[in-house]
Amino acid sequence: MKKYYVLDKQTVEKLISVKKPGAYFLCVVLNNRFYELYVGRSDSCLRTRLLQHIGAGIYTHFRFRMCRSKKGAFLNECVGFHTYKHMANQIHPARNDEVECCPICRTDEEEQIISEHNAMFTKSKNDLRDNLMVSEENQEVC
Ligand SMILES: [Zn+2]
Repeated sequence: MKKYYVLDKQTVEKLISVKKPGAYFLCVVLNNRFYELYVGRSDSCLRTRLLQHIGAGIYTHFRFRMCRSKKGAFLNECVGFHTYKHMANQIHPARNDEVECCPICRTDEEEQIISEHNAMFTKSKNDLRDNLMVSEENQEVC
């Protein structure tokens, strides 16, 4: 089960050591349920990043994931971004220098390869159909 914590200075400083990358979700509680509404990360210090959210008064709780690398923080943020539909996040998580692309989005290059593949597949399907039609025409009627 996911564990949520109160978003205040005391809790953040108690739970999260300095200079560690990680991802986090900011939440509100409605009818005793936690709603994760914002996902973020820090490549350098999760604690500092979370402390910045305190005082805005929008989110009351958070959950987090410490990561061993910047890459891990980014991947966790992306998964969160793509998993929840009602996130307040408007823009896709920005890449850092440890990652090539989001594991969920396709890169431009991948899009290109897939569309070329589809075009080839459609063409060969048409060729096959033309050949079949020809052979049908050539069929002798008994
Ligand atoms: Zn993505």
